[in-house]
Amino acid sequence: MKPLNEVIAACPPSGIRRFFDIAAELDDVISLGVGEPDFVTPWRIREAGIYALEHGYTTYTSNAGLPRLRELVCADLANRYDAHYAWDSECLITTGVSEGLDLTLRVLLNPGDEVIVPEPCYVAYEPCVTFAGGAAVRVPTRWEDGFAIDAATVAAAITPRTKAILIGSPANPTGAVQPRPALEALVRLAEQHDLYLISDEIYDRLTYTGTHTCLGALPGARERTVVLGGFSKAHAMTGWRVGWICAPRPVAELCVRVHQYTMLCAPHVSQLAAVEAMTSAEDDVTEMVADYDRRRRVFVKGLREIGLDCPEPGGAFYAFPSIRSSGLDSETFAERLLRQEGVAVVPGSVFGPSGEGHIRCSYATALPLLEEALGRIDRFLRRE
Ligand code: PLP
Repeated sequence: MKPLNEVIAACPPSGIRRFFDIAAELDDVISLGVGEPDFVTPWRIREAGIYALEHGYTTYTSNAGLPRLRELVCADLANRYDAHYAWDSECLITTGVSEGLDLTLRVLLNPGDEVIVPEPCYVAYEPCVTFAGGAAVRVPTRWEDGFAIDAATVAAAITPRTKAILIGSPANPTGAVQPRPALEALVRLAEQHDLYLISDEIYDRLTYTGTHTCLGALPGARERTVVLGGFSKAHAMTGWRVGWICAPRPVAELCVRVHQYTMLCAPHVSQLAAVEAMTSAEDDVTEMVADYDRRRRVFVKGLREIGLDCPEPGGAFYAFPSIRSSGLDSETFAERLLRQEGVAVVPGSVFGPSGEGHIRCSYATALPLLEEALGRIDRFLRRE
């Protein structure tokens, strides 16, 4: 039997956790650290959840999820992005994108298969590949290129063991929205080498500059692309735990087979709330997105004014400024900023080697707090 300490070593605590622990010991901390909307779920969605509870919708649903919700998810992908997946055979409802990611990787990977992961990237990508028995192969992206994925760099990382390329756009932590040509080049590579594409599109609605491209809509992509999406971010529904997978039929079928044993179904009440989110919360989403955009503009301008070079974040709710001018590495910068000025940010190195020299700041925080945080960061920079 494998000793547990070896297993634990393969499963390190998330680098973000350490900063939460330090922040918990301090008073008067402004947190730009968490990747979570600061809005409460819109009232009409909560009301649908309350109604569902009151009326006793407390049972399991079908394994793949409520047919109505799957229909809505697929219709939305078709209308918004011209991406076509059949609701009854190519879509399932998951317990958040987190389950969708884990499930997809477990279904697709055989032991030792490699998954190419452009970084800096969401902290769960590499561990989930490892837990599924695969090996994550990092490829760098550069802030000088707006963190666009370079197909030639990806191509150089392909080996006979490569099974898939895993990307997120709009991206956590950079806020980068992958330009359509970069995605088209990835699809061509995937066709040439017979690879799957796994596309985490949880921030698709939070796009401020440019337009979001659904990977599954690109010519040649559909039959090899798994699109992951959910309700946590744009609908401010993190705690409801509901997301979805749209995938070509054999992949979707396998996902349902595994999900029926491991999860059974996503929470019934949350699925009903998600139906409401898809049918009547458009105005709420539009308002929240407009609010994030206002904060984004103020915050990015403010960072630049205090001397931090900040690439334009086109989506999600993160700014990823360079802190190279401070001469500090990102871990030291984040720890000192937290201890000296009470501003919690996440060191860029947590998201992969190409994140070094940056910090991730979430602007899903009220404007007055963002302004106060800018003042504190400015004071910190002058002192360092
Ligand atoms: N994917 C990305 C890129 C994220 O940033 C997050 C959460 O921060 C998730 C997935 C997890 O989403 P969910 O709440 O749907 O599990």
